[in-house]
Parts: sequence; C-alpha cells; structure tokens
Amino acid sequence: MGQRFFIESPIAEDSEVALSRDEGRHLAKVMRAQIGDEIVLFDGAGSEFLATIERIVKGTVWLKILSRNTVDRELPYALTLGVALPRGDRQRWLIEKAVELGVTRVVPLITVRGVAQPTSQACQRLTRVVIESSKQCGRNRLLEICEPQVVRAFLCCCDTMERLFVHPYGSKDSLATVSEHAVADPLSPVAVAVGPEGGFTDDEVDAARELGCQLVDLGPRTLRIETAAVAICSYITLSRLAVIEGRSNDEG
Ligand code: SAH
Repeated sequence: MGQRFFIESPIAEDSEVALSRDEGRHLAKVMRAQIGDEIVLFDGAGSEFLATIERIVKGTVWLKILSRNTVDRELPYALTLGVALPRGDRQRWLIEKAVELGVTRVVPLITVRGVAQPTSQACQRLTRVVIESSKQCGRNRLLEICEPQVVRAFLCCCDTMERLFVHPYGSKDSLATVSEHAVADPLSPVAVAVGPEGGFTDDEVDAARELGCQLVDLGPRTLRIETAAVAICSYITLSRLAVIEGRSNDEG
C-alpha cells in the first residue's frame, strides 16, 4: 500500500495542497522524500489521492494532486462500539484495533464503575490515534469518536440496530444468536456495549434487558475491556463477512 498521508480538509482533483507540519516533517525528514516523489493522500471522507511533491518551502511540503481513487475498505454495515474507556496506553490500543477492525464509530461510555473519564481532551487524543491507525491499515474513512454517553442513553440511541450488551453473566447461547443474526441480516447495523473494569452495575444490566438488548457472554474468563471489545467486534465482523462471501460465491 505504501506510505499514506492524511490531510484534514477535503481534497479536490488538480489542486495543490500543503501537508500539516507534522505530516510534512515526517515526509521530508524521516522519509527523506524528494521533489517529484509520488505519495498517497487521504482526507478521511472515503477517497485516496495520488499526489506528487512539487516543492518544499521552509519545511512546508506542497503537493500536486494527480488523481482521485475511491477505494472502499469499510465494512458493508455500520458497527458502533460503546465502550467504557480503559486507562492509559490501553485506550490507545483499543482505538487502534477498532480502526483496524473497521468499527464505524466509538462512543465512550459513562458508566457507574468507570475509572477513566472520557474528557474532551482524551477524545481529541484518540482522534490522533484514529488518523495514525488509518494511515497504517488503509482506511480512507475515519472512525468517528462520538460524544460520551451514559449506558441507557447509548442503548436508546441505537434502538434501530441489533444491540449486543457484553456481560460475563449473559445467556450461554448468546454467541449462537449473534451468528444467526449474521446469517439472517449480515448488512444491518449493529451496536455493542462493553463495560468498565469493575463491570456494569445491576441497574445498567437491568436497563439493557428492559430495552431488549441481547446479553452476550464471552466465556468463563474475565477479559480486559479492550480484549472483550476486540473479541466481540471480530466475532461479529468475521461471521458476517463469511456469510457475505459465501453468498457472493454462490452467485458467482
Ligand atoms: N469484574 C467485572 C468484569 C469486568 S471486565 C464483572 O464481573 O462484570 C470489563 C468488561 O469486559 C465487562 O463489563 C464486559 O463488558 C466485558 N467482559 C469481560 N469478560 C467478559 C466475559 N467473559 N463475557 C462477557 N463480557 C466480558
């Protein structure tokens, strides 16, 4: 895929654009790019662009856009992850993996037992992680970090989707239900809720039950927040992709 660079504003064909300071420095100093070199740019809105380095003036790298390519590396359905953010570096890891797995949006959950409060500063830091991870994995659309929500509000907002409430004391056949849904409707939007290190409270679990969410048990070991999030997102995605792939093979 080669080196990819992100530009914050929309990119037009045949235009000239400047890289941000950080991206420009990386390209000019670390990658030792030269005038005339070709690179790939994306603006987070779905397309990637082939560009050539025109000039480097006082550390600013100017690029000429050569062509636009609409390359879709998104999931064929919307996957919303509501998650109580873990602490420190694990937060970064979680977002990186969510980007790689194709999660559409992350809603930081405000939970009774949550420790890392989703401040707007923390959310901004996570947007930086989204960009870095998208550069690496080839996504041209940025995962959206949404405003934090309390558990009930999150579940209510997602009431038109399949809603999975990941909880160690969920029902034992819950994973079978998830894969049955994948077979029945592999393109429908899905929302997942993962709780904090201390777990969801009884009130939060009652709210999920009352709102008709599917409680999902991931087995007898206690997983960390980020492991549980990656496990359920991978399970949903791979079971749906298998169904979609199987159908297109049948048609082909
Ligand atoms: N001691 C807590 C565990 C919290 S682990 C408790 O008893 O609930 C953090 C979050 O990861 C949980 O709230 C849940 O959403 C998810 N999780 C971890 N292990 C899980 C498992 N075995 N099954 C289902 N969810 C799990």
